[in-house]
Amino acid sequence: MENALKAMEKKMTDKNKKLHVKTGDRVIVTAGKSKGTIGNVKKAIPSEGKVIVEGANMVTKAQKPQPMAGIQGGLIKLEAPLDASKVMIVCPACEKPTRIKHEIVDGKKVRVCKKCGEQLDV
Ligand SMILES: [Zn+2]
Repeated sequence: MENALKAMEKKMTDKNKKLHVKTGDRVIVTAGKSKGTIGNVKKAIPSEGKVIVEGANMVTKAQKPQPMAGIQGGLIKLEAPLDASKVMIVCPACEKPTRIKHEIVDGKKVRVCKKCGEQLDV
C-alpha cells in the first residue's frame, strides 16, 4: 500500500504543478468540514493540488498491527489530503489569512503578505 502510493506520487510529480503553499506554512482551512481549522502544512502534494494540514480533515482508518514496526492495530486518526484551494496562508506577522505576492529581494524570490507586506520566508 505504502509503496504503491509512493510510486503513484512519483509518477504524478512529473507534472510539477505549483502550489501557493508549501510544507511548514501556517494555513487556515476556508471550506469543507474542517473550515476554520488553523494548522501547519504537513505535506504539500503539488501533483494533486492537495495539501495535508495538521489537525484538519481528520479521517479514521483501520490500522493493521505491524509488530515488526512496533505499530499496534486499531483505529487511528490521520489527516487526509485536502484541496489546496481550500486553504489560505495565515501570515505570521499580522496573523490574518492572506494572499501572497512574489517579490524579488536581493535576487531571491520571496513570498510577501499582501496585507502587511511582511516577508513570509525568513
Ligand atoms: Zn501579514
